[in-house]
Amino acid sequence: MLEDIDLRELSEVSDNRPSFVSVYLNMKDSRMDKFLTKRERECLKALKEEKELKEIFQENMEDVREFLKSGKRTERAKAIAIFSSSPNNFFEGYFLPIEVENQLIVDTSPYIRPLALLEEEWESLAIVLLDHSNARLYLISSSVIQDTKKMHKDIMNKHKKGGWSQMRFQRLRKGAIDQFFKEVSEYLENFLEKENVRRIILAGPGSAKKEFEEYLPEPIQQKVIAAIDEDIDVPEGQLLSDSFENFFKKEREEENEMVANLRTEILKGGLVAYGVDDTLSAVTEGRAELLLINMGKRAVGWKCEVCKIFRPGSAETCESCGKPVFNVDVVEELVEAAKSLGTTLEFIKDNEFLEELGGVAAFLRF
Ligand SMILES: [Zn+2]
Repeated sequence: MLEDIDLRELSEVSDNRPSFVSVYLNMKDSRMDKFLTKRERECLKALKEEKELKEIFQENMEDVREFLKSGKRTERAKAIAIFSSSPNNFFEGYFLPIEVENQLIVDTSPYIRPLALLEEEWESLAIVLLDHSNARLYLISSSVIQDTKKMHKDIMNKHKKGGWSQMRFQRLRKGAIDQFFKEVSEYLENFLEKENVRRIILAGPGSAKKEFEEYLPEPIQQKVIAAIDEDIDVPEGQLLSDSFENFFKKEREEENEMVANLRTEILKGGLVAYGVDDTLSAVTEGRAELLLINMGKRAVGWKCEVCKIFRPGSAETCESCGKPVFNVDVVEELVEAAKSLGTTLEFIKDNEFLEELGGVAAFLRF
């Protein structure tokens, strides 16, 4: 599971030479093996002149292939992430429930950006499907159902002839529904305690879901992002796919809101930084509270592992110590710095305004 991966820890390990291999493989992609072989060959070629690094790379690839052969995969596994550095005795391999793009990267530290993106995009979600007498609760994390609960209460639906008066029948029926909604609400609260769930989707036929919403305590009500129409016996797959559609719609809305706030702050001369240079300084100095990154953004830069500094642009030697530097994607360095300093990270999907600002920006603490 994604939440079992400690990105902070991964962001803090590094070497002063590129001894780390990071591999991401999409198990649903039939070209996965071909990709790995091709990238391995390319890297060996690039390391031809550096005997020691070449040996390290080969050792890492042996460990990677060993994991691919014998790692215990779950049924739901759709992708693999592996980080290996043999001189540091470092090896971590994970099966992921979400597809990723094939990548193999040799660097001085684990390449964590794809994981950071998955973690940020796939926050936990609770779904409540209900009518007046049936409920199904789902707890979803990393796109997968973690827990589920079925609830049912017998509620009389038709007023049979004779016996109770219409009024008495209505009152009893209302009381029974009231009781049922209270039980579901309590169960939902339990559910939310298990995981840090920020979003809830209510689903079901007719008016029940809206009536049920009133039973939720205020803080939980605020987590409800959508109420969607579904049959009470909707297949699980359909319910999930409709819920994810709403989930991502909300995610995009929140992203647009953040960028709108950014624009306002810029106009007011508020506490923000944007563009690769300024954002980089703000993040590494620990001034950034929330870091926004356009999803596909990359920026060429260099890193000195001796001085632990990185800068945009290209250079052969470090401006401070004069030692040779490594070429890096500055955005990956930003992600690692944010993870290690506890800065909140938000990936923004294709936002033109943010792109014009340089593809990265940050709200600052001071
Ligand atoms: Zn240096």
